[in-house]
Amino acid sequence: MKRFIIKGTFQECRIAAGSVATDLSAILPPGNAFIITDENVFRFHKERFASFPVFVIRPGEESKTADTAFRICRWLMDEGAGRNAFVCGVGGGVVCDLAGFVASIYMRGIDFGFVPTSLLAQVDAAIGGKNGVNLNAFKNIIGTFNQPRFVHCDPSFLSTLPDEELRNGLAEVVKHCLIADKNMFSNIRDHADALLQRDAAMLRKVIGHSIGVKVTIVNRDEFERGERRLLNLGHTWGHAVEKTEGIPHGQAVSIGLCFAARFSEHRGLLSHAEFNDIENLLKSLGLPVRAAADPRHVLQTILKDKKKEDEQLHFVFLHGIGRAVTESISIRELTAFVALYDSSKAP
Ligand code: NAD
Repeated sequence: MKRFIIKGTFQECRIAAGSVATDLSAILPPGNAFIITDENVFRFHKERFASFPVFVIRPGEESKTADTAFRICRWLMDEGAGRNAFVCGVGGGVVCDLAGFVASIYMRGIDFGFVPTSLLAQVDAAIGGKNGVNLNAFKNIIGTFNQPRFVHCDPSFLSTLPDEELRNGLAEVVKHCLIADKNMFSNIRDHADALLQRDAAMLRKVIGHSIGVKVTIVNRDEFERGERRLLNLGHTWGHAVEKTEGIPHGQAVSIGLCFAARFSEHRGLLSHAEFNDIENLLKSLGLPVRAAADPRHVLQTILKDKKKEDEQLHFVFLHGIGRAVTESISIRELTAFVALYDSSKAP
């Protein structure tokens, strides 16, 4: 088992990668713990938390709303949860985001922890203390920075995860390699089949690696004032694709990573060979590399709240595989690149 600590401003978070969470009563405070999960995780794993009160949401991004958060708050009140209550999110990124948000606002904040059950949540969503919900079409627009007390990543949960969801998590794994570790990128390329076959050693390796990359960055910039923006690699385009097409987060990130790589190549920061390596790896992991939607529509989604051509936004570029750099770019530059990207019919 690998252990990590995030030294948050308000709370220290202990992360165990490869821990065993078959019986949550061994982890949770007795008497005052409340579980939030979704229907799929409940169906497969309810015996792991049979002795706790449970709120079960419908699976999927549609549940990640303030409305669901308030319903959970009402349920906590009905259950008599006081300031010493403990909320534990057992599920994918949607459940973890909701549980962390609810725990951060209920009675002005109560303790919480995560037992992430999807690969994407184990390598990314449960790590770092960003807890948010969507409002209308705006993703994660309401939220908090607040570290959970613990994150227990038990890979045995992944045995019931659908293949598509495994691939979604691999998109965030690749993102972490692109940001910070060229060697691990090559390692994943060499063992892509093993990962898709759920080789236990390889999965443990990438989970521990991804958590390590994210923890290092979060410990240096918990509130995303600078370096933490690197973790948004692929997300400017990716989030807009997710919103435009309604596809899963991991697939949208994969498309966003390819967009960022192509933009980096266009600026002379990334070689064409490296761009091909990135695209080929994502393809070999069964991930999409280009949006089905018209790029001009995706661009409009990004620009919805931006009015002026010289307005700036942060964009994460790749200065080679394993070296991400955030730069401020103008809307004009992004728009000009999208026109080129649109006309290049290559995938
Ligand atoms: P998800 O929570 O919707 O889970 C994906 C699917 O897998 C769901 O149908 C779920 O029921 C199912 N599932 C989860 N664990 C399972 C298991 N063990 N067995 C069977 N089925 C299982 O989505 P996700 O991909 O885990 O996370 C995506 C969300 O995470 C997005 O909302 C994204 O915005 C958020 N996110 C947050 C952060 C952050 O820092 N807070 C970072 C990255 C992503």
